[in-house]
Amino acid sequence: MLIDTHCHLYFDSFDEDRQQVLARMAEACVGAAVVVGIDPGSWEQARELAASHERLWYSVGLHPTSELPADFLAAEALGPYLEGDNAAIAIGECGIDLHWDTNTLEAQQPVFRSQLELARERELPVIIHTRSANAETLELLQSVPGTRGILHCFNGSPELLAWALEQPQWYISFAGNVSFRKATELHEAARVIPAERLLVETDAPFIAPQAKRGQRNEPAYVRHTFEALATLRDEPIEELEEILLANARRIFGVDF
Ligand SMILES: [Zn+2]
Repeated sequence: MLIDTHCHLYFDSFDEDRQQVLARMAEACVGAAVVVGIDPGSWEQARELAASHERLWYSVGLHPTSELPADFLAAEALGPYLEGDNAAIAIGECGIDLHWDTNTLEAQQPVFRSQLELARERELPVIIHTRSANAETLELLQSVPGTRGILHCFNGSPELLAWALEQPQWYISFAGNVSFRKATELHEAARVIPAERLLVETDAPFIAPQAKRGQRNEPAYVRHTFEALATLRDEPIEELEEILLANARRIFGVDF
């Protein structure tokens, strides 16, 4: 059984066939998916999805390209989602994005820091988004020691990887781009990371793996990404699948 550790099933591109998407996920033996919220609207949608499907869990975070209130306080904004029976299991995705110029670095930094501090305080994993901002992301991660979490859609950064592997409780999650034929840097990273630190995800509806390239991505396709990873590492599928399941259970504290 695989876990899709990161997807956005609330996107309206799933409105027509969400039930079929969930059925295909079960058929592909993808036992659960974590629906990642990125802004107040999607936190609500993710919570509702998790409440109504037993195979879905969710996380809440303010994405660096979302609208960032100047006075954002993670404890206030996200706190309500961390209580009760249908609580979020992680903070994120959050981080630094300097690819899009929606928000300045100065606006992004305190929002990210506040979420790192909340995650540490609540002992929850934090899901990190970073784009064109490896050094800036690393600086923030280092400035809030004692966190645990996931580098989502790992981009191959040697600096971030070295830092994450030095920490006892950080994981590297590969998305569909690791299966792209020309992604040689990612291939190399995928070969050398200890299996006990690996996760797989789709980031659906984005970044469909090579076999489905150009299509809408969905949780069932995490199996293609996983198989690409197993081939790159030259490891038996069943053993690696078991290790990745144990990793997902450990980082999210959920008995998927
Ligand atoms: Zn995402």
